[in-house]
Amino acid sequence: MDVAQRKFFVGGNWKCNGDLEFIDKHFNEVLFKLGHDKTKCDVLIAPVFIHLQKALSLANSNDSGLIISAQNCSLTAEGAFTGEVAARLIKNLGVNWTILGHSERRTLYRETNEKVGTKVKNAMDNGLNVVACIGETLQEREEKKTLDVCYAQLKEIAASVTDWSRVVIAYEPIWAIGTGKTPTVDEAQEVHLAIRSWISKNVNVEAANGVRIIYGGSVTDTNAESFAKMSDIDGFLVGGASLKPAFSKIVNAYTVKGLTGKY
Ligand code: PEP
Repeated sequence: MDVAQRKFFVGGNWKCNGDLEFIDKHFNEVLFKLGHDKTKCDVLIAPVFIHLQKALSLANSNDSGLIISAQNCSLTAEGAFTGEVAARLIKNLGVNWTILGHSERRTLYRETNEKVGTKVKNAMDNGLNVVACIGETLQEREEKKTLDVCYAQLKEIAASVTDWSRVVIAYEPIWAIGTGKTPTVDEAQEVHLAIRSWISKNVNVEAANGVRIIYGGSVTDTNAESFAKMSDIDGFLVGGASLKPAFSKIVNAYTVKGLTGKY
């Protein structure tokens, strides 16, 4: 599968934001008016757990095509794990996706590569599709360890993936998240290509060519198109700007790729 056949994918990671009033307003004023071609671009919205049901109802209330996603799932199955949400319970609600391994989970909640791998397994075993996040710190980048860090993270994720068509890899350099700083488009392309090559070598060529590798870290309505033009950048994971009207222009950045609309 070449670049022309990979469907663009834009995720809005709301993090711990978005109250009831915001959700109604944002769906009605921004998300229902994205105007994108749904055969060419998937749009995923990840609200907090407690609002998944409301977001699902809204997304299903018209022909929005919006994918509703969790931001995390439990390391464990159902049981005596206070405060946790098991993958099966997310799926049981009607949610088909979860983000996993976000750098805020890795750094603030000490999720190791191994734990992220276990979560990917839990999610996939229970029928959830996964946006799996990887990326390096500023220090690691300065020490030229970006690819080694990404490969170590990928290794644990890949060990748990049984069906690569159900996975999206989000490359998110940690130093670019919420900072207004980004790598150049060439630097981002270089890492995306390296990730694809790693999958080609360690999984198989078909998985590598088909998997969508999206970029995350200070994507805005002004820089989205230049990243979208790069051949191995298949979309975005968006934090701050996904809560704003600017999200619409980011979603519609897929148009610069001239995709054929397969999928
Ligand atoms: C994120 O949290 O995944 C992210 C990319 O955040 P931001 O777009 O705000 O940098």
